[in-house]
Amino acid sequence: MKDWELVIIGGGPAGLSAGIYGARARLRTLIVEKLACGGQAATTHRIENYPGFAQGITGPELMEQMENQAKGLGVEFAYAEAVGLRPESSGYVLLTDGEEIRGKTIIIATGTQPNTLGVPGEDDWRGRGVSYCATCDGAFFRDKDVVVVGGGDSAAEGALFLTRFARKIYVVHRRDQLRATKILGERLAAHPKIQLVWNKVVKEIQGQAFVERVLLADTRGGEDLEIAASGLFVYIGSNPNTEWLRADIVRNDQGYIITDERMQTSLPGVFAAGDVRRTPLRQVVTAVADGAVAAVEAEKYLGGIL
Ligand code: NAP
Repeated sequence: MKDWELVIIGGGPAGLSAGIYGARARLRTLIVEKLACGGQAATTHRIENYPGFAQGITGPELMEQMENQAKGLGVEFAYAEAVGLRPESSGYVLLTDGEEIRGKTIIIATGTQPNTLGVPGEDDWRGRGVSYCATCDGAFFRDKDVVVVGGGDSAAEGALFLTRFARKIYVVHRRDQLRATKILGERLAAHPKIQLVWNKVVKEIQGQAFVERVLLADTRGGEDLEIAASGLFVYIGSNPNTEWLRADIVRNDQGYIITDERMQTSLPGVFAAGDVRRTPLRQVVTAVADGAVAAVEAEKYLGGIL
């Protein structure tokens, strides 16, 4: 088993940034990624709030640049799913669905995964009209009517992206006020293809071979509503990928890892960075900052134990 000084779990913005800082500190650095690097940022069509790109940059392009930067600095990559972490005298052993990986320090940057609605039809029509990623699946809905569920930034960005393809986009939100950033809310309200549907939640998704209808219930006791649509995009927040972690890595009620300002978790030498951490803001810019802090703190920690 190769002996790494820094093992980073997750190849999204936080993990790649930690890799860049780890490699520049000349730490033997490994990023363990389940599928492909880039995280949720790579499924975002356009990122307009990452400083330095006045015209915005596509999510895949930004993440490819970060991955290339990490590789160029000598970060190594392993593709496996983390399933456990075991302390040992010289650090930790990361258990994966493949090999075991030994690291003196660990940075957890496993991000989040989208929440599901949990309504009848959602599982039946998943991949046949029900989607959690407009940039991945939007092009299948050219000239069709679609529903986007949620009132946050992801829902707003998803709906705006879908205007390229769909004929009409209903944005269904459970309140009468968006959670999304004001500038995105203004764009939604102004777009001729978008109709905001307030105070409604999805009750059921119906169809034959594909989604055909979405049944909505009123959150204020008003009339139910039925929308004829071929697609339903779910953007109702996400939950952290932490279920595989040991109980002694302290998390909050929602499962987000609690760290101090140096990204240190409750286990010495184990740090957390990015969306998986309890944090007031989940953006690419905050994730990369977390990753940098975590790697620098890992280096300091190693200085103390080596
Ligand atoms: P979010 O901000 O948590 O918003 C989730 C939305 O879904 C909220 O409007 C919420 O309603 C609604 N919702 C939650 N559970 C629901 C349910 N069971 N049924 C119906 N609606 C439900 O999640 P997000 O939009 O994925 O964003 C996550 C984080 O990433 C945020 O910090 C966001 O700012 C960030 N982000 C930023 C950008 C950007 O800056 N460009 C893009 C994407 C994401 P309520 O409002 O009533 O709670």
